[in-house]
Amino acid sequence: MNLDFSPDELRFQQEVRQFLADSLPPHIVAATANNGSVFVEKDIALEWQAILAEKGWAVPQWPQEYGGTGWTPAQKYIFSKECYHAGAPMLIPLGLLMLAPVIMAFGSEQQKAEYLPKILSGEHYWCQGYSEPGAGSDLASLKLRAQRDGDHYIVNGSKIWTTHAHLADHIFCLVRTNVGSKPQEGISFLLIDMASPGVHVEPIITMAGDHEVNQVFFTDVHVPVANRIGEEDKGWSYAKYLLEFERGGGFSAHRVRHELDNLMGLVAAAHTIDPQFDKHGDIARRVARIEIDLKALEITELRILSAVSGGGNPGPESSILKIATVNLEQAINEMSVEVLGYAAFEMNPVAQGNPVRADYVSSVVPRYLNNRAASIFGGSQEIQHNIIAKLVLGL
Ligand SMILES: Cc1cc2nc3c(=O)[nH]c(=O)nc-3n(C[C@H](O)[C@H](O)[C@H](O)COP(=O)(O)OP(=O)(O)OC[C@H]3O[C@@H](n4cnc5c(N)ncnc54)[C@H](O)[C@@H]3O)c2cc1C
Repeated sequence: MNLDFSPDELRFQQEVRQFLADSLPPHIVAATANNGSVFVEKDIALEWQAILAEKGWAVPQWPQEYGGTGWTPAQKYIFSKECYHAGAPMLIPLGLLMLAPVIMAFGSEQQKAEYLPKILSGEHYWCQGYSEPGAGSDLASLKLRAQRDGDHYIVNGSKIWTTHAHLADHIFCLVRTNVGSKPQEGISFLLIDMASPGVHVEPIITMAGDHEVNQVFFTDVHVPVANRIGEEDKGWSYAKYLLEFERGGGFSAHRVRHELDNLMGLVAAAHTIDPQFDKHGDIARRVARIEIDLKALEITELRILSAVSGGGNPGPESSILKIATVNLEQAINEMSVEVLGYAAFEMNPVAQGNPVRADYVSSVVPRYLNNRAASIFGGSQEIQHNIIAKLVLGL
């Protein structure tokens, strides 16, 4: 695989840099640096999404017929890398990168026309209703019941850990439409308006102090049968398809690289403050290990994503990307707290005047706490190992 950029690709890189210099507002960069959560604030993400959509660059991953850019894998790679480098936020993937591919692959023409433009414009803000109090890793045991009543389903039960349910206007849900069959066979994929009577959201506050996740209760919620994606009782295969995108549908190595650059800034600041810092080289060795593993992730990600650049799905290999990304991010989070030491607890902008942004320093502990969840959401690390063993290695 030739990883050198061609003259055309280098010209494209300049075009992207120029666009970012002209169009990425400083308050969005500041809010992104300051953010300690998985997603930036909804308003910030949607503002950046609107700027990108205006330029036609919001969803490079989508096929061109639905509003994608038609870029080559190298162009997508360059774009993603430059965005992180410039401090742009990740767009919130729930609608754009998780639900949209499912609608494109399995939705009716009417559903594509109805939902895709609203996802792209940000008019619809989605959340994901997969997990339930008794169904996480063992997702197929889900019980949220949808009983057919003419041209509606009546939905009863609850979903839990639903990220941004308190901000979303729509939820895509796995529901049980058949109780008598094998667990995987009686599931359907429903799109539900959060404003429907009978939908109730309760907050769950995490150990990081964030309100990101929720429990959503459904009491006799009427959902049109027309809101079902694909066939009744066949939702399990659409659900798994979506999870491949959730686990590895984008270039996350750039995000990790950006985090590593920030860690290096903290290390440099610590050296400035105390020349004896890391005198035995332990931190330097661990940073080198992260750098090596990150290079491996970058190459693996390029290999997997260029293989699916024709609009296909990432496949079970996405589990490899998820494990590697999460391990690296959590290692960087941990080291960042360690390097800051006591200052991390005070969230003291110790690095002011040193080669790291003070607003980044204040988010080190929130990031550390928040990102503990990354090895759980989207399927825990153990579950990803099981998938790799069965579906990638054929064990
Ligand atoms: C911050 C956060 C945000 C989330 N956002 C969403 C969301 O928006 N929408 C949504 O639907 N869900 C969401 N989730 C839920 C997430 O997908 C589940 O928490 C996850 O799948 C694990 O399920 P569980 O919590 O029920 O744990 P369990 O399934 O009970 O697992 C407990 C432990 O047992 C291990 N384990 C379970 N089964 C096996 C096995 N077969 N082999 C080996 N080990 C096993 C797990 O790895 C884990 O360590 C979110 C979770 C978090 C923490």
